[in-house]
Amino acid sequence: MLNSLIRWHKQLLSDTDTDSDPDPEDEQRERIMPDKRIIVTHPHGFCAGVARAVAVAEVALAQHGAPVYALHEIVHNRQVTERLATRGLRVVEQLADVPEGAVTLFSAHGVAPAVRAEARARKLRVLDATCPFVERVHREALRFVAEGCTVFCIGHPAHAEVVGIAGEAPGRVLVVETEEEAQRVQPPDPERVAVVSQTTLNPETADRIREALRRRFPKLRQPDSEDICYATRNRQQAVRALAAQAELVLVLGSANSSNSRRLVETASGAGARACLVSTLEDLAAAPVEAVCVLGITSGASTPESFLEEVLSALRARGFATVEHLRTVDEPLRTFRPVVYSGHEESEGRGEAHEG
Ligand code: SF4
Repeated sequence: MLNSLIRWHKQLLSDTDTDSDPDPEDEQRERIMPDKRIIVTHPHGFCAGVARAVAVAEVALAQHGAPVYALHEIVHNRQVTERLATRGLRVVEQLADVPEGAVTLFSAHGVAPAVRAEARARKLRVLDATCPFVERVHREALRFVAEGCTVFCIGHPAHAEVVGIAGEAPGRVLVVETEEEAQRVQPPDPERVAVVSQTTLNPETADRIREALRRRFPKLRQPDSEDICYATRNRQQAVRALAAQAELVLVLGSANSSNSRRLVETASGAGARACLVSTLEDLAAAPVEAVCVLGITSGASTPESFLEEVLSALRARGFATVEHLRTVDEPLRTFRPVVYSGHEESEGRGEAHEG
């Protein structure tokens, strides 16, 4: 630290000496400012659900070779999907594009019952990597519907997770994305209503929408446990602490990653400038030059390898020091193995799980 201060001080003095010729060593020093450092927050990156889905895809490709099919991206992350695509994972948007009998992955985001039925009818060998936290929301929605309720699902209507939950009971699950929609939604019986939510929302936003619903529907029922998952909560809590220390927060994650976008919002809400970085090209455009303390986190679907690439690129831009901020203790979670379904002979093969 002392040496870098001295170097910086010399640099300032030399900057005032306009008569002298530029010295190559001085140019190098320009890029070394005191305290130009990175803080990486923990936890960040892969959650247990995403890690398991990626492991399932890798095991399926190793066992069967290409092609293996995935209904939608198995995780919302460009680096992961591109890497798996080079190994033969083909992403389709509808099961009709999968050849009969082929090995097919369902992502951590889950699917509607109609999709499972279609897979059975087409004799697909399905590896279902639906995250257990998402499955729990499906079960809650089904239970409330069975008890006669209309269920409000707080979430983004186009997100695969919400499409799957709403598909549990079409017409009986109504998606509510904003407080304004909560003011307008009209259930058939205002006395018999319940609420669930997408797992990757900002808890405060979800609370506001839930309270808006409760003001209109005092008998609103809700699950005993919280729908927003541990990974979403922990990463948001961690980025809040990071925002208090960093001038700029970079959130590594893809634009279609709900939890990554929520991290940008959370950091901004906590007072820091924040931006999403999906690629190294995004990083090149990020305004880091005037920043001394740069915070970094990554969404639950962002691989650690991308963080390493970003740190390496930032070293070349003068960020020589990397510190770590640990605010939340996140124990390693293990989900049950995923086994084939929909094809009796292959039942039990292809086990893969996150450890
Ligand atoms: S973000 Fe949460 S709900 Fe989604 S896959 Fe990860 S642990 Fe599961």
